[in-house]
Amino acid sequence: MARVRSGASFVRVTSPDGTSHLVAFRLYEAGLMSGDGRYAAACGRTVLAASMAAAPGRPCPLCRASVTPD
Ligand SMILES: [Zn+2]
Repeated sequence: MARVRSGASFVRVTSPDGTSHLVAFRLYEAGLMSGDGRYAAACGRTVLAASMAAAPGRPCPLCRASVTPD
């Protein structure tokens, strides 16, 4: 799995199962433009976003692992 430098900005997207995934801002914008509410998360999953008003869920460990902190 390719590691992503934390210099890139990420948006936290909570899926309906309560897991918060990290989506690269560029991909988040692409998801918004497509209008179907699906975003490609850093862990490789396609996340169907829950309501934007939903509380943040448990962080996805795979997303955290693929975004290198520094
Ligand atoms: Zn994830």
